[in-house]
Amino acid sequence: MGPALLVFGVVGVGLVVAASSRRRSTSAGKLPGVESKAPGDLYGPFRERLDRLLGDLHAAGFKPRIRATWRSPERQAAYKASGWSKVDRSFHEVTGPDGARESLAADVYDARWGPDDPRQAPFYRALLSRSGAHGLTTGGAWTSAKWPNDPAKALGWDPGHVEPDSNVSIDEAHDGERPWTL
Ligand SMILES: [Zn+2]
Repeated sequence: MGPALLVFGVVGVGLVVAASSRRRSTSAGKLPGVESKAPGDLYGPFRERLDRLLGDLHAAGFKPRIRATWRSPERQAAYKASGWSKVDRSFHEVTGPDGARESLAADVYDARWGPDDPRQAPFYRALLSRSGAHGLTTGGAWTSAKWPNDPAKALGWDPGHVEPDSNVSIDEAHDGERPWTL
């Protein structure tokens, strides 16, 4: 390949990569509804407990980061339709009586790797084992299916999902019950 062809080849590959990443972000943006990663969209007492849990993990050498807090019912329906979520309603869509966002769940991961990277397994295991001390639990405890990326296959299917360890069900939370008072 001569120099001119080589330059064309490199530029051509660059354009293809740019076009495909644009397509990906455009299609993700077309999912209906909204999803936030703002800690302010969490129910206050849940946020306090999550902060302490993530502080524990930070002190243990992990790099915890929140990737999702509140999501709208339309977004949850889209996740269910895609097969990524298995439920019609979750703790993520909870709102207060005035419609204010009061999510009782957050999705977290170690910022060094993507959420589905097998290297997350030690982080997700630590997240689960330390959550109970703060009144929380994680999708790593769910037994309906395993997270496929853990070499030991020891974690439930959504190990980065944190929610209250309480008797308040998802439906009750949507009806206004809370595991802790403000
Ligand atoms: Zn979640």
